[in-house]
Amino acid sequence: PRIVDFKNVSKVYHPGTRNEFTSIRDISFHIEDTPDVGEFIGILGPSGCGKSTVLRLIAGLAPHFPATTGEVLVHGQPVEGPGPDRGFVFQDYANFPHRTVLENVGFGLECAHVPDKERIERANEWIAKVGLDPKKDGGKYPHQLSGGMNQRVAIARTLIMHPRIILMDEPFGALDPGTRQNMQDLLVKLWRELEATVFFVTHDVSEAVYLGDRVFIFSPSPGTIVHQLAVMPPDR
Ligand code: ADP
Ligand code: ADP
Repeated sequence: PRIVDFKNVSKVYHPGTRNEFTSIRDISFHIEDTPDVGEFIGILGPSGCGKSTVLRLIAGLAPHFPATTGEVLVHGQPVEGPGPDRGFVFQDYANFPHRTVLENVGFGLECAHVPDKERIERANEWIAKVGLDPKKDGGKYPHQLSGGMNQRVAIARTLIMHPRIILMDEPFGALDPGTRQNMQDLLVKLWRELEATVFFVTHDVSEAVYLGDRVFIFSPSPGTIVHQLAVMPPDR
């Protein structure tokens, strides 16, 4: 069984007008579902080549969703919109500014009507899992946190829902090198624990090769996969 399947997928904006613009062209690939830990896919390419487009087609998120031509299948079914089986992590964290860390991390459970006591317990567990202190940090607001701490909150907020597919759009692009290394190691640990499949967009070659089992290398715009690199995983 395939967890993600792209069949000749293209995205064209403003077709038939003088602003017509092809963002990705004829992308095909597939990722097998595995009984244990899923594959970690790095997506590498220059700015504007369509990396976010590919992630958002899997996530079912506008403005890149839906594709213009071709098929995007998740678990063999056409993607029809966002769903809890796919979690997204943005470069700019996208935490809710008027919610505390605890309320941000518990947001998905709140939407799922999980009772207060269980929600708070599970949210505190995830706050700790991403290296924050439930007592000291749980009541803080996003503007009181560093970039690295905000991205930890965002990762907890997404992974607490146990998505089978984790979609990450340059999640560490705004962090300093030391923080970045810590976050990479945290991500590897959580990915193994959740046994999820990860798509990780970056324009940093060493990050893609360090993290990815396989790296898709995109051409400049209009993006297409020009090379798939199987990486011998380092001793992470
Ligand atoms: P990347 O993530 O590799 O930087 P994107 O997937 O964000 O690339 O974008 C691919 C291309 O599509 C870019 O050149 C961008 O300018 C273009 N694009 C993105 N959204 C739109 C849109 N709504 N209308 C027209 N062009 C767009
Ligand atoms: P890039 O500059 O590489 O395209 P960005 O981080 O600017 O990457 O954004 C990638 C895509 O994610 C864009 O289409 C943008 O609209 C979307 N995006 C960024 N932040 C958010 C957010 N907080 N909520 C929803 N969508 C977002």
